Amino acid sequence: PLKDGDPLEDHQITVCVRKRPLSKKEITRKEIDVVTMPNRDQTIVHEPRTKVDLTKYLENQHFRFDYAFDDTCDNQLVYKYSARPLVDTIFERGMATCFAYGQTGSGKTHTMGGTFNGKQQDANQGIYAMAARDVFLKLKSPQHRNKGLAVSASYFEIYSGKVFDLLNAKAKLRVLEDGKQQVQVVGLTERPVESMEDVLKLIQHGNNIRTSGTTSANNHSSRSHAVFQIILRTRQSGVPADRWKLYGKFSLIDLAGNERGADTSSSDRNTRMEGAEINKSLLALKECIRALGRKGAHLPFRASKLTQVLRDSFIGENSKTCMVSGEWGAGGWGGG
Ligand code: ADP
Ligand code: MG
Repeated sequence: PLKDGDPLEDHQITVCVRKRPLSKKEITRKEIDVVTMPNRDQTIVHEPRTKVDLTKYLENQHFRFDYAFDDTCDNQLVYKYSARPLVDTIFERGMATCFAYGQTGSGKTHTMGGTFNGKQQDANQGIYAMAARDVFLKLKSPQHRNKGLAVSASYFEIYSGKVFDLLNAKAKLRVLEDGKQQVQVVGLTERPVESMEDVLKLIQHGNNIRTSGTTSANNHSSRSHAVFQIILRTRQSGVPADRWKLYGKFSLIDLAGNERGADTSSSDRNTRMEGAEINKSLLALKECIRALGRKGAHLPFRASKLTQVLRDSFIGENSKTCMVSGEWGAGGWGGG
């Protein structure tokens, strides 16, 4: 398991895996936990040889990550190694992106939006809020407090290839690309924020809008990408705040569930189309991230709305990305 220490330095891309504990239901079903994380960067998926003797493994699959967070790690720790280093990036005029990736139920919303306290998400304990808190802290530091920087936030959703504003009653927004290949989400709400209270209110508001008006809220949110952005701009007198020059931007994304095959084989046409759209955007994302690691490689950002709206975050001179991939260990003989 991961022990305390300093985060890796200077990584353009950090890839982590996070394992959530087995749920009560999985334990009741006597599911077997087949995932172990013996080292900071290693994950093993075990294939038990028999149902009785779990120490006799048939074949173990080994995977390497920058970090492997086992089920004893809390959001604070995951944040420290994944998104925290990217806060520095936006104060260096950079673009930062942090994704939560995984199947529905793997813990994406728990990681990004906050821990669930039985009734609702405690946004304070999510990476959205933790990142914002550190942005405010850094802004007050002697190094940055006299730079005239202002913080604002946006929150939107991409569902079936369309963009919806979560800070403006789910208004459907157009995405435009100008002659200079700048991508713009036209009319996206950007709210100035001055305190954590402001930020938490926005997150809560956006979350309520995200899940309202749909018959099956859970189902809907697992089929859309939610993008929360923390934006730094340089104040300019006589210019409206949303036109102040961009200084740095942090996009934090709760991706749609990458359900294995299930969606595309459904007999319901809408479900199938949604599934195809999700697969397309996750594939485009994968290819963009892969291309980031190679100098001069083509970025297929136009292949999906998700990668298109994130274009400026991918191509920036100083752009950094981290991916937290959710997993859980229920499997083997227990089913799952
Ligand atoms: P996703 O957004 O990927 O569909 P959720 O974040 O909703 O998954 O998590 C599924 C369930 O597991 C929720 O009930 C959540 O509270 C719980 N859960 C997820 N991660 C953890 C964790 N690290 N510790 C405890 N419970 C977790
Ligand atoms: Mg979720």
